[in-house]
Amino acid sequence: MKRIVCFFITTLIFGFSMSAEEGMFPLSEIHKLDLKAMGFLVGPRDIYNPNGVSLVDGIINLGGCTASFVSGEGLILTNYHCAFGAVQAVATPENDYLRDGFYAAERSAEIPAKRYTVRLIESYRDVSREILTAIKKKMSYAQRSKAIEEKSKRMVVAFEKSNPGKRAEVAEMFRGKTYVLFVYNYIKDVRLVYAPPRSIGEYGGEEDNWMWPRHTGDFAFMRAYVAPDGSNAEFSLQNVPFRPKKYFPVAAEGVRNEDFAFILGYPGSTHRHKSSHYLAFEENIRMPFMVDLYRWIIGLKEEMSAGNRGVAIKLSSSLKGLWNTVTRSLGQLQGMKNLHLVEQRQREEISLQKFIDSDPVRRRKYGSLLADLAKVYEDKAKRSRRDLTLSNLLSNRISIIMGNAFKICEASHERVKKDTQREAAYMERNFDRTEKQMTMALRDYHEPTEKALLKEMLRRAAAFRDKQAIPAVRDICAGSEESMALDAFLQKSFAATKLNDPKIVSACLKKNNAQLRTMNDPFINLAFALYPDHREMKEDEKIKKGILDQLLAKLVDVKRELLGRDFIPDANGTLRLTRGRIRGYSPADAIRMQSFTTLGGIVEKHATHPGLASYQAPEKLLELAKARDYGRFAHPDLDDVPVAMLYDMDTTGGNSGSPVFNPRGELIGLNFDRVFEATINDFAWDESYSRSIGVDMRFILWSLAKFSGAERLLAEMGIK
Ligand code: GLU
Repeated sequence: MKRIVCFFITTLIFGFSMSAEEGMFPLSEIHKLDLKAMGFLVGPRDIYNPNGVSLVDGIINLGGCTASFVSGEGLILTNYHCAFGAVQAVATPENDYLRDGFYAAERSAEIPAKRYTVRLIESYRDVSREILTAIKKKMSYAQRSKAIEEKSKRMVVAFEKSNPGKRAEVAEMFRGKTYVLFVYNYIKDVRLVYAPPRSIGEYGGEEDNWMWPRHTGDFAFMRAYVAPDGSNAEFSLQNVPFRPKKYFPVAAEGVRNEDFAFILGYPGSTHRHKSSHYLAFEENIRMPFMVDLYRWIIGLKEEMSAGNRGVAIKLSSSLKGLWNTVTRSLGQLQGMKNLHLVEQRQREEISLQKFIDSDPVRRRKYGSLLADLAKVYEDKAKRSRRDLTLSNLLSNRISIIMGNAFKICEASHERVKKDTQREAAYMERNFDRTEKQMTMALRDYHEPTEKALLKEMLRRAAAFRDKQAIPAVRDICAGSEESMALDAFLQKSFAATKLNDPKIVSACLKKNNAQLRTMNDPFINLAFALYPDHREMKEDEKIKKGILDQLLAKLVDVKRELLGRDFIPDANGTLRLTRGRIRGYSPADAIRMQSFTTLGGIVEKHATHPGLASYQAPEKLLELAKARDYGRFAHPDLDDVPVAMLYDMDTTGGNSGSPVFNPRGELIGLNFDRVFEATINDFAWDESYSRSIGVDMRFILWSLAKFSGAERLLAEMGIK
């Protein structure tokens, strides 16, 4: 950590300094880079070529993760943790694919992964000018943000109407400034082909999550299917494997320390261009709130899972997600503290203010910019705990039944509006997906867990007083002792509700306001009672978004003036290129992390932690390792099979499953995580601590060949 702190002190002196290596380059930037000088053996046209075949044609967005094609028959390689939902959805105590893994020995045995879709980028175009024409001078802040939203929606709907089967999205690149329309090819029939046992795919469990050294075989295979005529279709036995324009060969020679590598993927979101006020809000309010709430939920779900495999399987996906967020947030909180990130940015802002004040024109334009930003976050902070409580109470990521009830209520309000004025989830183009997401969530429904969750959420929501009070919740608790009142309400409500039935949920989602009210379902009634508070909160968010759009656009402008150069936009779920080297790092004084782990390391962890479930490896793997049965997959420098590797590329969540390439664009690994110290790079990137983690391709191939005997897949990937 000392090294890391030292670096930050140097950056303070230079203000806004950015390492030369930082960068998640959007497609539009690639042709400006000197790829050859960076170490690439492919040119910009090999990476993206709208009129031909390029690497981008083999890169997939898989429901928020990244993935890639590894055969001409639509075979997809992604992370185990990205495919986890598909495995969990079909696992039962009798066919425990989580424990044992899954391998479809023939194509007909591949299992539909119903929650999954594949998106492939087709083209993109800058639409900033068109979008910004929606803003008129006299508009209020809320009107501005609604106008931008509606204009984007209109553009997307118009495009999709004239291009059936395609998906379009408008992505905001720089807040309030630049917008790009992305066009995607879209595939709905996705199937699970191979997943290792959890004791490989998630080896190390939560002990090792976001950590190094890591020995996790975080990989899985899926396949994309289309109708026989090549069009996009829902699952059908008649469907045939999709034939991608591009798929990636595996680099036979593997990879060594200090080798150049690059990644193409879909990083979700970073916040490097925001102000100190945002960072302070994250550090002091939002992240601690989420950590506290999620820890409570984890405790509950672990208790419910204990001793009941059926319940444990149902709750496993959500538990995994909760843990993942908690550990990442703890890494980020620690990073913020150790690096004094808020103070650092405050100091940068003092220099910025001086720069602004040094010129009368600039002062007129930006004079109050930082004070205005401070004001937005001050206002936000005042109501944020209450708003976070309310939005979590209404989210089906917390309580499935309450979340679904709320969506049903919201749909009835939204569906009476013009399509492009609705919240995105209820637009015609998204409605089926919303319905599917709601009904599928019920697969993980477990009433005792739901009851306990709702009791706690209602208890927390009832604690707000005066202007922040949430009357519908206070009403439930009124009259008698709070805990008893909540128990009685929940007892009665769970006995009466029908929302645990997916068919009823589907039907309700299409009902209008009056029809829903006559149903008299207790959770729908509660959703209606909470709706005005939710509306008011949403409206406030839109006002703040409108203000921030303007302020953050100005912040980028003035920072550009100060530094005399352009920035790379923050990650926003659009395709990016990043590059770097296979490289270890030093997380603390006297500690040096090497860049590869090996099979031998699994044997070691297993042996030295006999009581720890996360480190228990499958017997067969241990035997193969002890027999040094490496086949041709050993690393020449290590004399062992490499399992995971470290590199200094710029990645974040959403880069999960991204292919890691050698300079020629051949596969050497599969990105799946970052180290604990690197979680902070969502807010500030630096080479000294930003290390991402990938599975080495040789471990993937070794597992298929030796552990699973998955010859069919090896042959399909051209591995002899
Ligand atoms: N392992 C990470 C996650 O599950 C994804 C990759 C990253 O954030 O670096 O969120």
